[in-house]
Amino acid sequence: MLDIANILKEESLSREDLIALLSVKRKEDRDLVFQKAASVRCNNVGNEIYLRGLIEYSNICEKNCFYCGIRAGNKQVERYCLDEDDVICSARHAFENDYGSIVIQSGERTDQDFINKIDSLVRKIKIISEHKLGITLSCGDQSKETYHRWFESGAHRYLLRFETSDPDLYYKIHPNNKKHFLLNRLTSLQYLKETGYQVGSGMMIGLPGQNIENLIDDLLMLKVLNVDMVGMGPYIEHKDTPLFKEKSQLLTKNERLGLSLLTIAVLRILIPDINIAAATALDSLSDDGRLQAIRAGANVLMPNITPLKYRENYFLYENKPYLTEADALIRKINESGSLNGYHIKLGEWGDSKHFAKRVKGFGLD
Ligand code: SAH
Ligand code: SF4
Repeated sequence: MLDIANILKEESLSREDLIALLSVKRKEDRDLVFQKAASVRCNNVGNEIYLRGLIEYSNICEKNCFYCGIRAGNKQVERYCLDEDDVICSARHAFENDYGSIVIQSGERTDQDFINKIDSLVRKIKIISEHKLGITLSCGDQSKETYHRWFESGAHRYLLRFETSDPDLYYKIHPNNKKHFLLNRLTSLQYLKETGYQVGSGMMIGLPGQNIENLIDDLLMLKVLNVDMVGMGPYIEHKDTPLFKEKSQLLTKNERLGLSLLTIAVLRILIPDINIAAATALDSLSDDGRLQAIRAGANVLMPNITPLKYRENYFLYENKPYLTEADALIRKINESGSLNGYHIKLGEWGDSKHFAKRVKGFGLD
């Protein structure tokens, strides 16, 4: 039998080691992996948990990803786009409550009006926060010029998941057309890096047809891409999407939660100095899914600060916890942190330590 304790002592992990770590079943072994990940986090990025207030700007999307509840083809969705005052008011809340950073996330649009609006929002948020709020964008595939423009206006981090690194699985969960090409995503990630952003990517965990080997490839892809941040979380089915018909192939919710937490811990061990977000989707599987992710090695929390009346329409997947109040979530994490040795750090951007090293030339590229 493989000795997990011995694997965890190794300086660098082979593919076989990663497979063994992601396959652990016994509680004692899982605990060993989580403890190791917590100590790796402490030694490499400290015990601070950074906040990004999440603003879900719009559920209007040009794309048709087969898994996503706000895909263009879903006619059941009431579409919205926040007006400027709503966004500024949410950003002001984040600023006044010392969050340090916000994320503007949106369904993907590439028209000029959208590009201008995001640009103007970024500029205004910088002004109202005296340039103190950090801004991460998560607005999908855009042109190099658009990434550049938003960066010049003050956004400095960008999240764009590759969703899965396996081309067959990718085209099982996306239409195989120009708008959705995997290569576009990978090219976008390169453009983002060249522009100067701190770059985040990631995948969904527990997709129908996905196996442990696929997940190991995803983890290695994150390493090869030399990302600064990772947002990855469980796939959660949504009844008004094409992928819903594969529901019978899915792991149980408990198994998906367990696998997601383990994947976070293994990623922390594999790439010690990146920022790892506790994905909101974890809370769809368990009330304290995000809290468990932080115990497993994540160091970024994204409380939802979208105005309440819009949240139920940003319904990417079922059971999305849209009513969770940001302050209550922060309190919960702080209470657990006092027992487990981590704490929320207010008022700081909490930039990726990996990025700092990468731009000084110590990274892989
Ligand atoms: N449109 C942008 C940002 C919004 S979607 C983009 O696609 O990048 C943000 C993330 O939500 C996606 O990257 C995807 O991984 C996740 N998501 C969408 N549908 C999901 C589902 N059914 N289960 C879990 N995550 C999902
Ligand atoms: Fe649109 Fe993003 Fe959903 Fe794909 S995952 S349909 S790009 S919002």
